[in-house]
Amino acid sequence: MRVRQRQKDPVPSHDLPHPRLEIDRQRAEFVDAAVEGRFNRHHLPERSAQLKLSLLFCAAFYVAFGATDVATLGATPTAWLMVALRVLVALAAGACWLAIARRPESVRLAVLSACAVEILGLAVFMVLCWYQPTAMTWNVMSQALILMAIYIAIPNRFVYAVWIAAGSSVVFCAMLLFQGFLKLDDIVALVLLLALGNTLGYIGARRFHLAQREEFRSAILLQQLADRDPLTGCYNRRVLQKGLLDAELARARRYGTALSVILCDIDHFKRINDTHGHAAGDHVLQEFGGLLLAMTRETVDSVVRYGGEEFLVVLPETDLEGARALAERVRHAFGSTGSAVEFGQFVTATASFGIAAVPALYPDAPETPAVLIEAADAQLYAAKRGGRNCVRGAVVTGERLQSMA
Ligand code: GH3
Ligand code: MG
Ligand code: MG
Repeated sequence: MRVRQRQKDPVPSHDLPHPRLEIDRQRAEFVDAAVEGRFNRHHLPERSAQLKLSLLFCAAFYVAFGATDVATLGATPTAWLMVALRVLVALAAGACWLAIARRPESVRLAVLSACAVEILGLAVFMVLCWYQPTAMTWNVMSQALILMAIYIAIPNRFVYAVWIAAGSSVVFCAMLLFQGFLKLDDIVALVLLLALGNTLGYIGARRFHLAQREEFRSAILLQQLADRDPLTGCYNRRVLQKGLLDAELARARRYGTALSVILCDIDHFKRINDTHGHAAGDHVLQEFGGLLLAMTRETVDSVVRYGGEEFLVVLPETDLEGARALAERVRHAFGSTGSAVEFGQFVTATASFGIAAVPALYPDAPETPAVLIEAADAQLYAAKRGGRNCVRGAVVTGERLQSMA
C-alpha cells in the first residue's frame, strides 16, 4: 500500500511534502522545481557570499587589465575609452554586489546579478578585443580564464553558465575568423584552446552542481528516515520530542491563534491482530495513517504516530468545532472503508477520537504541550468509555478543562 508523504517541517529541516528527488543530470538540477527551490534557498547564504567575493575580484582584475589596453594602444582616446568601459563593468558589478547585500534572501536576484555581470563583461571584452587585434593571443587566454570564472568561480545556474560561456566562445571565434588577422594554424590552436576551456569548465561545474544536489538529497532522505514512521509514513515520536507541539503552542500563544490536537485510537485493534494476524493489523494501521495524512492540510497540519495504534493530529489555527468536523470526517471515512488484508478479504474497523482545543485569543492557553496531550487523552478515554467509534472534545486551559461534547 502506498502511503503519501506529506507534512510540513516540524522544525527547520529538509523534509518536504511529496519530495521528488530525481536529479536531471544534463541540467544538473532537481527535476522537481519545489525541491530545486528549496535547495537554492538552503545554499543561498554561502552562494551569495561567494558571488559577492567573486564579483569584487573579477571587477578589480577587469579594471586592472586596463593597463594592458594603454600599453597596447598607447595613451590614446581609444585606450582611455577601453578603460572607461572596464570601469563601467566594474560599476555594474558593484551595483549587483550592493543589490545582493540589500536583498540577501532573493535567489532570483543572485542569479540575475551573475548573468547580468557576465554578459556585460563579455560584451565589453569583445569590444576590447576588436580594437586590439595584435594582442589576440593574450586575449584568447584571457577569454579562457573568463570561461573558468563563469563555469566555476561565479555561482550561477548551471544551464545559464553553459549558455553564456559557450555562446561567448562562439562569438569570440567568429570574431577571430572575421578579423582574419591571425594565421590559420594560430586560429586552430586558439579555437581548440577555447573548446578545451569550455569542456573542462563544463565537466567541473556539472560535477560540482551534481555533487551538491546529491548531498542535499542524502540529507533529505536521512531526515525522512529519522522523522518518519516507516509503516505509515506519519511523523514519529522523535518529531514531537524535537519540539513540534512546543513550537505550535508558542505560535498560538504569541499570535493569539487557535490550536487543536486530536488523539485517535483504533478500536479493539488487538482483536484484529488476534483474528486476522499481525500483517492484517499492519494494513489497517497503514490505511488509517494514510487517511489521516490525506484528510489533513498539506504543509499545515501534522500527523504523528503516537503509539502502536494511536495517532496525534496537530491542527494549527483550528478551533474545537473545526477539529471536531475533521475528526467526524475521518471517523466516518475509516468506519466505512475496509482495509484489504488478504486476497479478496477486507477488515473494517472503527476509531475513537479525543480533542483538546485552544481557542483563538485565549488568555488561558496552556504553556506546555503535555497539558494539551493529557487533555486530549482524557477526551479519548471518555470516547472509549462512551462506547467507542465516537468523538469527544474539550477546550483546554493551563489548569482546567471545559468539556464541550
Ligand atoms: P481499545 O479499543 O481499548 O483501544 O482496544 P485495543 O485492542 O485497540 O487496544 P490495546 O491497547 O489493548 O491493543 C493495542 C494493540 O496494538 C496491541 C499491540 O500488539 C498492537 N500493535 C501495536 N503496534 C502494532 C503494529 O505496529 N502492528 C500491529 N499489527 N499491531 C500493533
Ligand atoms: Mg485501540
Ligand atoms: Mg491504544
